[in-house]
Amino acid sequence: MKIIQNYDEIDVLPNSLIFIDLDETILHFPYIDQSWWEKTKKLYNLLNDTTSEDRTYRDWESIIYDYKPTLLDKTQFIKFLERVNNSGSKISILTARNKRLESITRQHLRDCDIPISDIHFSNEKGYTINYIKNTIRHNGPIIFIDDINSNIYDVEIINPEAITYNMKHINL
Ligand SMILES: [Mg+2]
Repeated sequence: MKIIQNYDEIDVLPNSLIFIDLDETILHFPYIDQSWWEKTKKLYNLLNDTTSEDRTYRDWESIIYDYKPTLLDKTQFIKFLERVNNSGSKISILTARNKRLESITRQHLRDCDIPISDIHFSNEKGYTINYIKNTIRHNGPIIFIDDINSNIYDVEIINPEAITYNMKHINL
């Protein structure tokens, strides 16, 4: 796993399958930074620790419905997508958002002019990548980019060949 601060640090190998996370890796919403989940859940824990997860999730959902996202570093992202296209690779979004958020998620991609149509909704990211690579019989490189460490470990354990990047945007 390599820690990176921007898309230009991703080495796009020829004929790769690239899976990139959405929230806090490409998109940003007001108020939400990389410690928001932990901080919010801790506060709700003080009230009731059995409902804190649900309450946190509901707060997050209301933010993503009420606000427009911004694309983290548009210039570098467009250059990255150009490199992906020129390398014969394929890029998909792999998000832990619930599948029932598909329509708002596609709206967020349109809001930010992100030309990626292939989206997978799964919080078992390692398993999902393994399933996709076996289904399409992909033998080339696999590249995974996410801002959350546990997702990266999950992908590495199930797909030891995957090249993984931990995105820590400098402005987030
Ligand atoms: Mg994320």
